[in-house]
Amino acid sequence: MKKCISCKKEVTDDYVKFNCPNCKKELVRCHNCRKNVIKYKCPECEFTGP
Ligand SMILES: [Zn+2]
Ligand SMILES: [Zn+2]
Repeated sequence: MKKCISCKKEVTDDYVKFNCPNCKKELVRCHNCRKNVIKYKCPECEFTGP
């Protein structure tokens, strides 16, 4: 089960995957958070980004 890194909701098919620019961990963000450019924080290294 994948969870959006920003809003912590479970995501199904409408999400984007990307890697943390700092530690390369795979992060998932839902379509809504991506659209609204919600900030995220990497759980591994605490890197924050738009
Ligand atoms: Zn979200
Ligand atoms: Zn990271």
